[in-house]
Amino acid sequence: MGIYRIRKYGEPILRLKCRRVTGLGSRENRIFSQMAATMYKAQGLGLAAPQIGLDEQLIVVDAGEGLIKLANPLILLKDGESVIEEGCLSLPNTMVKVKRASRVMVEGWNENEERVKIEGQGLLARVLQHEIDHLSGILIIDHVLFREKTVSEDSLSSGKRGERNG
Ligand SMILES: [Zn+2]
Repeated sequence: MGIYRIRKYGEPILRLKCRRVTGLGSRENRIFSQMAATMYKAQGLGLAAPQIGLDEQLIVVDAGEGLIKLANPLILLKDGESVIEEGCLSLPNTMVKVKRASRVMVEGWNENEERVKIEGQGLLARVLQHEIDHLSGILIIDHVLFREKTVSEDSLSSGKRGERNG
């Protein structure tokens, strides 16, 4: 089973708006499987296609309630609100508080190209929203308040140059 290289902050693919998938065949199922393997290896709770270099609307999620593979996911309903610190496999060593709905209803296609609806609460709702954000090029740092955002981006760019002291 292949493992993909996870794309990191600064790579343009993470900012693209991903294309809708027009069909789910053996190619897409192989991508789903390898995305899941990559997610588990990295100990993430979810992964979106742009994070492995593909601008297609595919996500995998496992927030402790089993593996979910979805194509063309769309949030139909949001309810409640919670603010929790979140990380992202594409932004190592960065944690930011993100306000999200505490319950969502998501529609998409499963690996058999069947239309499915998934209701998520708590952590599952959060991870679904995080991964669906990735498909529009949205990252966790886009959610934080301006003041915090300035700090995050400063620390990110200094981390990238690796010359904080100098
Ligand atoms: Zn992420």
